[in-house]
Amino acid sequence: MKIHEYQAKAILRTFGVPVPEGVAVSSVEEAVRGAKALGGGTWAVKAQIHAGGRGKGGGVRVAASFDEVKHFAGKMLGMTLITPQTGTQGRVVRLLLVERGVEIEREFYLALVVDRSSRRACLMASPEGGMDIEEVAMRTPERIRRVFIDPLAGLCASEADSVARGMGIPESALGQARSLLLDLYRVFVGTDATLVEINPLILTGDGRLAALDAKMSFDDNALFRHPEIAALRDIEEEDPVEAEASGHGLSYIPLDGSIGCLVNGAGLAMATMDIIKLYGASPANFLDVGGGATTEKVTEAFKLMLRSSRLKAVLVNIFGGIMKCDVIAAGVVAAAREVGLNVPLVVRLQGTHADLGRKILAESGLPVISADSMADAAQQAVRAAGIPSGEEASPWRS
Ligand code: ADP
Ligand code: MG
Repeated sequence: MKIHEYQAKAILRTFGVPVPEGVAVSSVEEAVRGAKALGGGTWAVKAQIHAGGRGKGGGVRVAASFDEVKHFAGKMLGMTLITPQTGTQGRVVRLLLVERGVEIEREFYLALVVDRSSRRACLMASPEGGMDIEEVAMRTPERIRRVFIDPLAGLCASEADSVARGMGIPESALGQARSLLLDLYRVFVGTDATLVEINPLILTGDGRLAALDAKMSFDDNALFRHPEIAALRDIEEEDPVEAEASGHGLSYIPLDGSIGCLVNGAGLAMATMDIIKLYGASPANFLDVGGGATTEKVTEAFKLMLRSSRLKAVLVNIFGGIMKCDVIAAGVVAAAREVGLNVPLVVRLQGTHADLGRKILAESGLPVISADSMADAAQQAVRAAGIPSGEEASPWRS
């Protein structure tokens, strides 16, 4: 789960990480009132969306008067902000963070992420923070240092000092940098975050460090331990189809291909996507209906999948264990009746109650193409979709 910058900064503040004072607002009047309450002579007006790169898209502006705050807030609220991270459709801005303008002496980059291959938290640090960190990562990756943190020992002070020195933080700010790094690690572990990114971490004109931007993501499976973080979820920022699916307890990820996949079990779902690729097409989604799905849940899953405009065929691939094939069949029939099925449907059912499932499908009158093996099912789906061999070719075939 992702949260907004203003929410991440509030969390950082509770852990003692210095952040500029600011206020989240949703109207121009509130923005001006907020700036007045903050005081000072400059204010940053910052669009709150779940994507970075806002500065490059006009989503971060520094105002030098209340009139400018008014002007920028008016321009940003309601605008569709397109940044390198939003995709071409962009995001509508509904919220702003108005914070005190800070005099920036230097910008650094800091992040903590989960590194799955080493199974450790990885601290990334660079002297080259700011809006071009992607460039740095691409052209001079050696300028980003990575430290893999021992989960038992945690981040130690000497490691923090070495990272800070490597970033080019002046000796006079080393003590601040050490506490900031140790606090940041406490934030990361204490909130079950998968990402804490501070870009830029800045050194101000008067020698103080502050987190000027903050991005945080959390492990969904640990959210039950943090109800106060779970409450920060902003459904409006999420893909509406994914959000609806998670409301039904389904794991559903829309993808770019044209073969819809309804599968039980994440492993089988991955294998199904692979085999579709092998036969020259691409999956339209990842969908795991899980082990204990009811007919209603399968119906919802099927309906979600049918919403994709790219869909050219549907492949239902079920290995009935705990999940019974007749439940799947009943769900497929109910959904197809409810929303109308206008693409070919290939079904492969194996395992518990497979015969019963096939009987339900056969008696439904739906034009079902049945398949025996996975290879057969995938080939039939690609053929039924009318995709000439290789048109949606998989990357490892080209
Ligand atoms: P993004 O990463 O989405 O572009 P940032 O929060 O990093 O957004 O802001 C982009 C740039 O705007 C920063 O690198 C910094 O130079 C400037 N900026 C951000 N917040 C402030 C602030 N409070 N005062 C002055 N400048 C700021
Ligand atoms: Mg940033």
